[in-house]
Amino acid sequence: PRPAVSVLGLGLMGTALASAFLKAGHPVTVWNRSHAKTGPLAAQGATPAGKAADAVAASDLVVVCLLDNGSVREVFETLGDRVAGKTLANLTNGTPQQARELAAWAAEHGARYLDGGIMAVPHMIAGPHAYVFYSGDQEAFETYEPAFAALGGARFTGTDPGFAAVHDLALLTGMYGMYMGVLQAFALARTENIPAAGLAGPLTEWIGAMLTGIGQDAEAIDSGEHLTDVSSIAVNRAAIPNFTATFRAQGLTTAFFEPLQELLDRAAEQGHEADGLSRLVDLLDS
Ligand code: NDP
Repeated sequence: PRPAVSVLGLGLMGTALASAFLKAGHPVTVWNRSHAKTGPLAAQGATPAGKAADAVAASDLVVVCLLDNGSVREVFETLGDRVAGKTLANLTNGTPQQARELAAWAAEHGARYLDGGIMAVPHMIAGPHAYVFYSGDQEAFETYEPAFAALGGARFTGTDPGFAAVHDLALLTGMYGMYMGVLQAFALARTENIPAAGLAGPLTEWIGAMLTGIGQDAEAIDSGEHLTDVSSIAVNRAAIPNFTATFRAQGLTTAFFEPLQELLDRAAEQGHEADGLSRLVDLLDS
């Protein structure tokens, strides 16, 4: 029989997680701060719990997905030692530091702790492209790996409970950086009445082509050998003023490109003009 799972938090994501566990045949108990959200899951076969403590008592595996780790801490405090002997898998987005603190709290209260970063939006859960980064108690991960498979892939990143958050934040950092550029691209096109739909195809193709260089950047960063035969700091540094000048002329902000110009200037001053853009990673310390 599949192990029982309790899900705390039935927002968009928690609901998708609970539903996936149900579909995979797990007995599922659900709790949410506003009780009404348990309704649709109860209709699918889940047992609604009136209190978080009742949900925790119902299953050895407790999956948590709330707004943020402040909320998680609040709910955990109401549970106290009732988490003893349980595995808490907290899939709420947070910082590595928060994950380490929650792991310490769980240890003090006799629970095993796993932190997780969900690399999917709710409708992707249980589909072929969804996966979750986990970190923390490796034995707990191995025990429940087959259960986690109900959500999609399960990737263990290390016994340091902060590692899932590091991986999650790193991937999302790449995404947000790309997204900022995409928005600026649409804004620029719009200043000349080019509809977004007209730019979407070429933009997708171009970003896709550029993404194929990530592996080469990674090699340069790990080896510290940034000399390039692709595109140098010097040539990029010469090009960036064309962007900022155009943005200014078209009435757009230059705010997102000024830091790039500053990094390129600094890299050049330090004698790295022949290196590739991967060199800039060394200049990002605060
Ligand atoms: P929602 O806003 O849909 O749900 C938030 C949930 O948190 C609700 O169940 C809400 O309860 C609960 N909550 C908020 N504050 C408290 C509190 N103080 N005490 C108890 N419960 C509280 O968010 P999502 O489900 O979309 O996201 C949940 C987590 O999953 C977030 O950390 C998010 O970053 C992460 N995530 C979400 C993704 C997405 O695409 N949606 C993708 C990857 C990760 P109530 O119903 O009572 O308000």
